[in-house]
Formats: sequence, C-alpha cells, structure tokens
Amino acid sequence: MNTSRVVIVGGGLAGLRVADRLRHDGETVVVGAEPHAPYDRPPLSKALLTQEIEPDTPPFLPSAGLEARTGVHASGLDTGNQEVRLDDGTVLGYDHLVIATGLRPRRLFDDWTGVHVLRTWEDCLALRTGLRAARRVAVVGGGVLGCEIAASARTLGCAVTIIELLDQPLAAVLGAEIGSMVAESHRAQGVDVRCATRVERLEGDGRVERVVLSDRSTVDTDLVVVAAGAVPNTEWLAGSGLALADGVVCDEFCRTSAENVWAAGDVARLPHGRLEHWTSATDTATVVARNVLAPPAERVRLTAVPYFWTDQYGARLQCLGVPAADDDLTVVEGSLAEGRFLAHYSRAGVVTGAVAIGMPAALARCRRLIGSAVPSQGQ
Ligand code: FAD
Repeated sequence: MNTSRVVIVGGGLAGLRVADRLRHDGETVVVGAEPHAPYDRPPLSKALLTQEIEPDTPPFLPSAGLEARTGVHASGLDTGNQEVRLDDGTVLGYDHLVIATGLRPRRLFDDWTGVHVLRTWEDCLALRTGLRAARRVAVVGGGVLGCEIAASARTLGCAVTIIELLDQPLAAVLGAEIGSMVAESHRAQGVDVRCATRVERLEGDGRVERVVLSDRSTVDTDLVVVAAGAVPNTEWLAGSGLALADGVVCDEFCRTSAENVWAAGDVARLPHGRLEHWTSATDTATVVARNVLAPPAERVRLTAVPYFWTDQYGARLQCLGVPAADDDLTVVEGSLAEGRFLAHYSRAGVVTGAVAIGMPAALARCRRLIGSAVPSQGQ
C-alpha cells in the first residue's frame, strides 16, 4: 500500500486531471488560488462571450468528487524539506509535488478604465458586460486568443480593430500564409486588421477613447482587450532552486530539476517548448499521474503529438505538431481560398506539423507523419 501525500498546486485543467487520474491509497491535496472548483477556459472567449443568457456559474470540469482547497495561493517551496508554504500560513509537507499553476495575462494599461484581459471566469464576466455596452472594440494582439475575442466581439455587432505587431495575425504560430488567410477571414467579416504596428499610448479621460499606434494612425474605441501573451505563474518558486526558464523546466517525463517535483499544463516548459493548449494540459497531466508513483523503470514519456484548435466565425481551425513559423507550407487537400483545406508544414523534407479547417479526419491521419518529427530529449 502506498500512503504518499501528493500535493498539486494549481486547481485548473492540468491540476484536476492529475488528481483525477492518480491511483493511490494515499492523500491527494489540490491547492487552487481561484475561488471556484476547476472550470474549462475555452468557452470563455467563444460561446460565453456571445451567448445572450447570462451564465451564472463557470463551465465546471467534471471530476469524481475531487475536493480542492480553493482561494489559497502557494507562496513558497522548500524542496529540501519537501514543503509548500501557503498564503494562509499553512505549511504542507509532500512526498510528491505537482506544479500546475498555469499562466496569467501580460497586462498593459492597467490603470485605464475600459481595458480588459481574458483568462479567468471573472475576466470573462467583466468583458461580457463591457462588450454589450461598447460600439467599438480594439483588440491588442492578433494571436489565437485575440482573434477569438475579435470574432466574438464582431458576432455581437461591435466595430472591431485587431492591432498586431507582426505582418499577419497568428503568424508566430502558423506562419505568414495561414496568417494572411486568417486576416482575410476577419476582414471579410468587417474587422479592421492592422498589422506591423504597435500601441504607443491610449488617450481619453481616464476611460479609454482612442488608441494611438506606432505608425501614427489612431483607433477610436470604447473598449480595449489586451491579448498580448501570458506569463507563467512561477513567482512562488523563487529561491526554491528549481530550474525556471519561461516556465518550469522539465523533461519528457514531466520531471522538474528537483526530486519528486513534477510539472503539468501551461506552466511546464517541455523539451519541445512551453505549450498553451488544452490538449497539452491533459497530455502532460496524464503522464504526471502515471509517473508520480511509478518505479523509474515504469515511467512513461510524453509522446502525444501537440494539438490545438481555435473557433472563429463558426469555423474550426486545428493544428498538429509544433511547426516553426518559417517552415514550408504545402496545401495537400482543398484550398486556403475556399476556407476548407489540409496543409502540411515541413522542414528539410520532414513533416513538422499539419493545419486544417473543415477536415478533422484527414488532419487526425497526419499524427503518425508528425510523431517522429516532434523534438524531444532522452532520459
Ligand atoms: P490554468 O487553467 O491557468 O490553471 C492554473 C490554475 O493555477 C489557475 O486556476 C490559477 O489561479 C492557479 N494558480 C496560479 N498560481 C497559483 C498559486 N501560487 N497557488 C495556487 N494556485 C495557483 N486551448 C485550446 O487548445 N483551444 C482553445 O480553444 C482554447 N481556448 C482558450 C480560451 C481562453 C479564454 C483561455 C484563457 C485559454 C484557452 N485555451 C485553449 C488554453 C487552455 O484553456 C489552457 O491550455 C489550459 O486551461 C491550461 O490549463 P492549466 O491547468 O495548465 O492552467
């Protein structure tokens, strides 16, 4: 009988999935900073922003009666004594620790009224209310989240401007060709897509009225959403000696640099990078749940091919792998112009990823092609 105590810090998708999948006779303690049980974030930028009925609870994730200690922050880690300090004064000893503290949005122009970010349920409620009162909306950042928020705001009838630093929205993730297609799909819906420019400053009387861009153009607006990336929640690990570099550094077994400390979800910096995808959170959680109490010889590596999806204007774009933005793109079925296609990314003749709209089965068949191309490191 194994009577270990496993402490999981972070009551989001990854933390919940680890807790759900752990099979042991010991104790599992989940510590979560938010005041709710774990909930799902994808609907926050899509259906929950656009639906007419006010939702009264977050989209809770199903769990088998898991009890999380909510509303409590971990504030420190002592890997020598195997203890986590909490901000309510409690010190929790652990046999195994799982770090699943996710990300928080990069914040700009915080002291202005009418400026929003989107990560939590509370952010979503505030943005919902703001969008219903706004006629004009400026979205700072044309990444996946910014594009989804722009599509939702447009669906609500707002005049929307996307402001993007790169030459195309989504270019950093999916390259210039797909970025250009995404830009056109937004323009076709009436969105003003301004690329290769940055926000210089906001103007207004405390409440935002105008965004001034580096190309000297301006955008009159009632509301700004900053979707300019997110930073890992790792401050509480300062001084712990744990290797940190844009997240918690871990290997393909999801082991961190400290004994008996594991990482899962958005905060985990894996050998192939730190991914901010729903499926990555569940894939890493599955590996951690399996490895935490397993003898070393029975531990499993993370082998799942990374995957994400994004929904905009009723179309679902799906991507497999971790293609580099400058990998070659070849359309193998359909066409970008008709908005229904399957394309491969490749580098030096090796397929590194695949992207599709409206072809989920064909995309899924690409998994085997990409599996061997996802970079990893040995034990
Ligand atoms: P989180 O869900 O952020 O959970 C981490 C938890 O840890 C948080 O509750 C946080 O409060 C808590 N925490 C932080 N610090 C501490 C501390 N010191 N002590 C205790 N608790 C702490 N992915 C897709 O693939 N497709 C999508 O369409 C998609 N849509 C999305 C839409 C939105 C609006 C957002 C924000 C994300 C979306 N994602 C999507 C990404 C996906 O939701 C994330 O990858 C996933 O939620 C990551 O889960 P996580 O548990 O690692 O982090």
